[in-house]
Amino acid sequence: MEFDLIERIRARATRRDGVVLGIGDDAALLQPPPGMQLAVATDTLNAGVHFPDGTAPADIGWKALAVNLSDLAAMGARPAWCTLSLSLPDAAAAWVDAFLDGFLALADREGVALVGGDTTRGPLSICVTAHGLVAPGRALRRDGARAGDDVWVTGTLGDAAAALALWRQNGDVPPALRQRLDRPQPRVEAGRALAGIAHACIDVSDGVLADLGHVCRASAVSARVEVDALPSSPALLALQPDDDRRRRWQASGGDDYELCFTAPVVAREAVVAALADAACAATRIGGIEPADDGGATVRAVDGEGGAWQPVQPGYRHFVS
Ligand code: ADP
Ligand code: MG
Repeated sequence: MEFDLIERIRARATRRDGVVLGIGDDAALLQPPPGMQLAVATDTLNAGVHFPDGTAPADIGWKALAVNLSDLAAMGARPAWCTLSLSLPDAAAAWVDAFLDGFLALADREGVALVGGDTTRGPLSICVTAHGLVAPGRALRRDGARAGDDVWVTGTLGDAAAALALWRQNGDVPPALRQRLDRPQPRVEAGRALAGIAHACIDVSDGVLADLGHVCRASAVSARVEVDALPSSPALLALQPDDDRRRRWQASGGDDYELCFTAPVVAREAVVAALADAACAATRIGGIEPADDGGATVRAVDGEGGAWQPVQPGYRHFVS
């Protein structure tokens, strides 16, 4: 049965340059262009944890790849290849076909070849590893933020968290918000455009405050975030949530898959120009400061400059 499923996958797998040997042998053979570094990212999606039960298989497929491409985007790497490990409760060919509709739609769009994987029986779980290419020294790392940098974020924040909150309350979820939860758009072009301009970058998967905290710790700096500056989509504003709820979704919600990056003040015009080429908006949301006595911290401030206290921090596994 596994063989039939693998053959179904192989027959549809996206192709691309550099694949010397794809699905079918004991390992794939990949040829990176001369001189390029490989950026490798892996992420697992578990049913009920990373997507609500009842999520359409095509959306699960899209998201499984999108979250990995988002990691490559945050490194400034160009996605090239991926592998797909599927744990399935049963050998439902129809489920796999629908899953591939979403997975391969994104792979085709981004020019990513599916070159291997594993197929086993077990609770529904999807693990994808994505490989990207980046020129030596150009990768956008978490450890490059410097005091005085601006903090920026691409696109808008909070839509996916709002969709999840409404869905959990059995409320109507406006399609534009549901789309942000189910079909995140990895900021691949934006990440590549920022390579060479930004000092540090991370993708926003667990809420911008929590993710910026990772940048601060890696860079041994602190950050100030003006919660009033966090960008909202028209769909989020149309919900007319109270301000505190909206800010919580934006600051501490998850699943945005935007890029949060730092860049020197002198690079403001360069940032805007580079992202305009990538058809991506960006907003300045704060600044990087020297680490304080408490170490590397992220300080969220409200419109009056006072401390803004999130009720819940960013999503963390294994924490109740
Ligand atoms: P092995 O026992 O050597 O791991 P498998 O039967 O697991 O062999 O895999 C056979 C081939 O099919 C390998 O090339 C593997 O990478 C590929 N493959 C297995 N499952 C998947 C999958 N879900 N997606 C893509 N390729 C897969
Ligand atoms: Mg195997």
